[in-house]
Amino acid sequence: MRLILLGAPGAGKGTQAVILAEKLKIPHISTGDIFRANIKEGTELGKKAKEFIDRGALVPDDITVGIVKDRLSKPDCKNGFLLDGFPRTIPQAEYLDDVLCKMNMSVDYAINIDVPDDVIIKRLSGRRVCPACGITYHIVNNPPQQGDVCDGCVTGVVQRDDDKEETIQKRLIAYHEQTEPLIDYYKNKGKLIVVDGTKEIEEITSEILKAIGVV
Ligand code: ADP
Ligand code: ADP
Ligand code: ZN
Repeated sequence: MRLILLGAPGAGKGTQAVILAEKLKIPHISTGDIFRANIKEGTELGKKAKEFIDRGALVPDDITVGIVKDRLSKPDCKNGFLLDGFPRTIPQAEYLDDVLCKMNMSVDYAINIDVPDDVIIKRLSGRRVCPACGITYHIVNNPPQQGDVCDGCVTGVVQRDDDKEETIQKRLIAYHEQTEPLIDYYKNKGKLIVVDGTKEIEEITSEILKAIGVV
């Protein structure tokens, strides 16, 4: 199964991606995670991406498509993959179609996790992540069991720099201008699935699995 998760920043793409990738036994590919790993390691790609991420802008397409192409050519993507946070612009979606076409593949479904802006703002401002293992929490909706340390590795959870108030607003504007048009792009191809992202995490997972014909 070749799947794409669409949705505003904070819609719950990463949360669902981790669960779905495990259930469907396909790799979870998050461009945001790849950028953050590069920033942490101080690579050239990381330095370039950081400039854009810090100000709530999208990283330019020419940088982003290259890393996705490399990742999709790895052997673990042969039997499917789950893209989380890519594509985020129409040119990225066209590029993806092209790359997959050359590999005799195509996207099966694009799943839009629909969440209104007021809920998004609460989700992003309450999001906390484990800097060691990357698990995502929410201070109200999904807190770590012991308050502020990761359930898995007991590291203190932190707020992402781009989850600060000023940057959240900019990311939402970028979403509406550049990413939202992808909903129609996949609708026109007959590949769009829409789920109500304001429901409980488990309920959203089962709706997605039902919609893609699993279980
Ligand atoms: P979120 O989970 O809040 O949607 P991500 O972790 O997916 O955020 O991405 C963090 C940041 O990385 C984005 O705000 C953007 O600057 C950059 N980024 C991630 N994926 C892409 C992409 N496909 N195109 C351009 N920029 C991207
Ligand atoms: P994205 O990857 O789309 O940016 P995340 O998966 O990181 O979104 O989720 C954003 C925040 O919202 C996190 O703090 C997460 O714990 C929380 N969250 C995710 N899904 C739900 C949900 N269905 N209900 C309530 N909170 C959620
Ligand atoms: Zn951890």
